[in-house]
Amino acid sequence: MATPYPNLLAPLDLGFTTLANRVVMGSMHTGLEDRLWHRKKLAAYFAERARGGVGLIITGGFNPNRSGWFYPFSGSMINMADALSHRIVTREVHKAGGKICMQLLHAGRYSYHPLSRSASAIKSPINPFKPKAMSTKEVERTVKDFARAAKLAKRAGYDGVELMGSEGYLINQFTAPRTNQRTDKYGGSSENRRRFPVEIVEAVRKACGKDFIVVFRMSMMDLVPGGSTREEILALAPELEKAGVTILNSGIGWHEARVPTIVTSVPRAAFADLTANVKDVVSIPVIASNRINMPDVAEGILASGKADMVSMARPMLADAHWVNKAAANQADEINTCIACNQACLDHTFKLQRATCLVNPQACFETELVYLKTRKPRKVAVVGAGPAGMSCATIAAERGHDVTLFDADDRIGGQFNMAARIPGKEEFWETIRYFGKRIEKTGVKLVLGRRIEHGELEKEGFDDVVIATGVLPRKPPIDGVNHPKVVSYVDVLRGEVEVGNRVALIGAGGIGFDVGEFLVHAKRASYKDAQSTESWLREWGVDFSSDAPGGLEKPDVEPPVREVYLLQRKTTSLGKDLGKTSGWVHRAVLQKKGVKMMKGCSYEKIDDQGLHILQGDEPVLLEVDTVVLCAGQESRKELYELATADKATAKGPSYHLIGGAELAAELDAKRAIRQGAELAAGL
Ligand code: FAD
Ligand code: NAP
Ligand code: SF4
Repeated sequence: MATPYPNLLAPLDLGFTTLANRVVMGSMHTGLEDRLWHRKKLAAYFAERARGGVGLIITGGFNPNRSGWFYPFSGSMINMADALSHRIVTREVHKAGGKICMQLLHAGRYSYHPLSRSASAIKSPINPFKPKAMSTKEVERTVKDFARAAKLAKRAGYDGVELMGSEGYLINQFTAPRTNQRTDKYGGSSENRRRFPVEIVEAVRKACGKDFIVVFRMSMMDLVPGGSTREEILALAPELEKAGVTILNSGIGWHEARVPTIVTSVPRAAFADLTANVKDVVSIPVIASNRINMPDVAEGILASGKADMVSMARPMLADAHWVNKAAANQADEINTCIACNQACLDHTFKLQRATCLVNPQACFETELVYLKTRKPRKVAVVGAGPAGMSCATIAAERGHDVTLFDADDRIGGQFNMAARIPGKEEFWETIRYFGKRIEKTGVKLVLGRRIEHGELEKEGFDDVVIATGVLPRKPPIDGVNHPKVVSYVDVLRGEVEVGNRVALIGAGGIGFDVGEFLVHAKRASYKDAQSTESWLREWGVDFSSDAPGGLEKPDVEPPVREVYLLQRKTTSLGKDLGKTSGWVHRAVLQKKGVKMMKGCSYEKIDDQGLHILQGDEPVLLEVDTVVLCAGQESRKELYELATADKATAKGPSYHLIGGAELAAELDAKRAIRQGAELAAGL
C-alpha cells in the first residue's frame, strides 16, 4: 500500500552519509545527561527511539566549557574522560540502526551559577545571576572550546554535533543587540554580531573534517524586544552555510520571550513559515520545528516545500515508535504529545528527571518494564479515565484478561472536559490513542454500566482496580443551592446556560480553564483549534515584520463574557499552575480582561449575585452565574466498602488508583503513571 507520508519517509542523502528519513528527534534536556551513573539509562532511552525508526537523534545540551554550564556540574564535553563516557550511548544507538548528534550548548547568561559569562553584562529577567561580559580573548577561547568539544564528540562516536544558536543561549546572546552591546570585533554592526557563530562553525568544521554532520540551530525569530531583525536572520543563514554547516535547524523565541512557542495552545506547525523563509536563502537542508506532533502535520510541511526535515522532541518522549507507526500507516496508534509540558519541561526546570505525562516509560526505559505475564489473571478496572485506561491497556498487553467498566457512554473520564477548553484540543488525541489501545490489546470495554458495591465479587475476578476518579466539591456557602450556582462539570458538558457576567469560585487549574472556556466565543466544534493567523495576531507576532524580534502590537479578540476569578488564598492567582505553562494561562486571562481577586471570603449567593468580603471590605459581584471550581473529592466508596467487607476477604484483591485514591494534587500525570505501575506489577 502506498504511504500517505512519502516526503516524511524519504531518505536524505548528505553526500557522506544518508539519513533514513526526514524525522529528527530534537534536543531535549532530560536530567539523564549530567551524571556518569545515568549513562546506561540515557543509552537505553535513545536506543529505543532509534529502534522506533527516527532518522537522526540530537542529544540534550552538553556544555563546551565550565562557564557554559546550565548549573554547577551539568553535563559537559571538555575532556577525553567525558568522551569515553558517551561510548555506550553512541554504541547502543548505532546498534539499533540510528544516527546521533551531540548538542553543544553554552548557556551564557542563562547559566545558573555566579561565574556566568555573556556577550555583555546584562542580566536575564529569568535568572538571578548577572553575567560578566567576556573579554575578546575569552570569546576567542570559547570558539576553540566549541571546536574541542566537537572533536571529542566525534571521538565518542557521535555522527555529528548540533551547535545551539537559538532560544537565547550564548550564541544567540551574541547575535542580538538586546544582549550584545560590545564595542570589539564581536559587537556593534550586524556583521560583527554574526562573527561569533560563524567562527564557531568554521572551527568545528576544521576540527572534525568533512564527513561529520554539523547542525546549527538558529533562531528563526527571537520574539523579544531588541532581538535580531528578519533581515539579520536571513543574512546569517547563508554565512553559516558558507562556514560549513550541513543542516540548519530552527529555534523559535528565547526562554524569556513572553510569547508562547510550544505549549498546547500554540497551533500546530505555527512557525513553519519562518523556516520556509530561511530555506529560500540557502541550499543546505533546513529543519522545521515547534508543535509538530503528528505525521500529517509533518508531511504537510515537507510536501509544501517549507522544510527538508521536521524536528520533534517531546513527541519522541510520548511515543518512541512514532516513525515506525507512521511508516506502517498506523498513525492512529501514535501516543500523541499533547504539549502539556507537565512531565518533561516542568520537571527539567525543577531539576527532576524528565518523563512524559502520556508515556511514563519515557526516560524510565530500564525501570518501568512491561513484561509478558506467566500467570494471566482476570482483572476488572472500574473507571475509564486516564488512570483506568492506562492500567487496563498495559495489563492486557502483558497478557491479563481485562474488563474495563465505565458508567459513562464514552471513555476518557475528565479528559472529555479538559479537551473542550480552547487551546487544549490535543487532549482528544489521548482519548483516541487509548481507544485504539483498548481495541488492539483486547480489553473488554463495558460502557454505560455503573458498578455498585458487591457486583463484581460474583464474576470471578482476581483483581479489581478502582479508578472511579473524583466528585466536584460543593463548598458550604450560604445560597450554594441558588439556581444561578452551577458546577464546572455542568458548564463544560454544555448542560447549563451561562450568563454574561460570571464569577468563578476557585482559581486552580480548572478555574483557569473554565475562565478560558467562558471568555472565548463558542466554536462550531470543540475539536476546532484556533487558526495560526488569529493566534499570531493575538500574541503580536508578525512574520513579515522588520521589527526587532518580530514583535508587533497584539490584537486581542474581545471577551464574550465578563468574568471574575476568585480564591481565598492571598497569594497570586495561578501561582501553582505549571512552571512553563502557567504564565501563558495567566497572560491569556489578563488579555481577555478577567478580573482576578484574591483573599476572598464567600458570604452568600442570592438574586443580587455573589457577596464576598475582600479583607474586611464587603463587595457585591452582580453576576448572573456562579461557577463552582472549588476542587474535588475522591470517589472511593466502592473500595472502602469492599475492603471493609469481611466477606470479600476471599474475593478479589482490590487496588485504588488515580483521583479515587487521592484528589488533592491530582493530575493526569500521576493518574496515568499510577495505572501503569500497578499494571506492570500485576
Ligand atoms: P477520571 O478522569 O475522573 O475518571 C474516572 C472515571 O470513572 C469516569 O469516566 C467515571 O465515569 C468513571 N466512574 C466513576 N464511578 C464509576 C462507577 N461506579 N462505575 C463505573 N464507572 C465509574 N490534568 C492534567 O494533568 N493536566 C491538565 O491540563 C488537566 N486539565 C484538566 C481540565 C479540566 C477541565 C478537567 C476537568 C480536568 C483536568 N485535568 C488535567 C485533570 C485530569 O483530567 C484528572 O487528573 C484525570 O482525569 C484523573 O484521572 P482518573 O482516571 O483518576 O479519573
Ligand atoms: P485545585 O488546583 O486544587 O484548585 C481548587 C481551587 O478551589 C483553589 O483555587 C482553592 O483555592 C479553591 N477551594 C478549595 N476548597 C475550597 C472551598 N471549600 N471553598 C471555596 N474554594 C475552595 O483543583 P482544580 O482546579 O479543581 O484542579 C484539579 C486538578 O486538575 C489539579 O490538581 C490540576 O493539577 C489538574 N489540572 C491541571 C491543569 C493544568 O493546566 N496543568 C488544568 C486543569 C486541571 P482557595 O482555597 O484559595 O480558595
Ligand atoms: Fe508531550 Fe506532555 Fe509528554 Fe511533555 S509531558 S512529552 S508535553 S505529552
